[in-house]
Amino acid sequence: MSGVTAVVERMARREAAVFFLRSREMTPLVARVLRCPTCGAGADDAEEYLRGLPVWGGRPAVTVLPVTEPRPDGGDPALTMLACEALPARAFLLIAEAAYSTVALDVRTRAVAWTTRPPSTEADALHSLDAAERWADALPPQPSDDAVLPISTRLRPDPRQEWQAHRTRLAQHFLTPHCTTHSLLKLNEAYHRLRIRAAADMLEREAQLGY
Ligand SMILES: [Zn+2]
Ligand SMILES: [Zn+2]
Repeated sequence: MSGVTAVVERMARREAAVFFLRSREMTPLVARVLRCPTCGAGADDAEEYLRGLPVWGGRPAVTVLPVTEPRPDGGDPALTMLACEALPARAFLLIAEAAYSTVALDVRTRAVAWTTRPPSTEADALHSLDAAERWADALPPQPSDDAVLPISTRLRPDPRQEWQAHRTRLAQHFLTPHCTTHSLLKLNEAYHRLRIRAAADMLEREAQLGY
């Protein structure tokens, strides 16, 4: 598994850096929703969440479409996501930042990339994901065709479920809202430790350099 730790560290640092972006008003968004093969959620289930996104400058205009429908014409940024996932607000901050400088932004969540990955080892799949996220390492970000959004995910809270019974299902995971394997659980623990350390490093540097 050598190399995987370095990949997970790069992914954690990448996400931590997004915490430090300046706020930017959200643009209109096209949300292309992939039916989740694990829980069966579809585009209809994601609609209410996507129309109430907690982002700067008020709720953006969001067009919600099943991923099977073609992307509408026009330059609005597109995000392909799993129907059951909820993303933290900073995910949309990175989209706004990238959309500001890119004409046709089209990104996928890690959960989509992970769910639709071609058969391979976990290590190879993580290397591919890392490569597809590298666009976000530069400012202004210049997304590639296969760009993946370097942000952790979790299941969307279900308002019909009682919170205490539900909350254990809502833990954040760096790859997928449905983490089922021991190895992915372990990697997620490492990821969260590395992300905290990365954020601490960045705060430290900010304090020293005064920018
Ligand atoms: Zn699901
Ligand atoms: Zn590599």
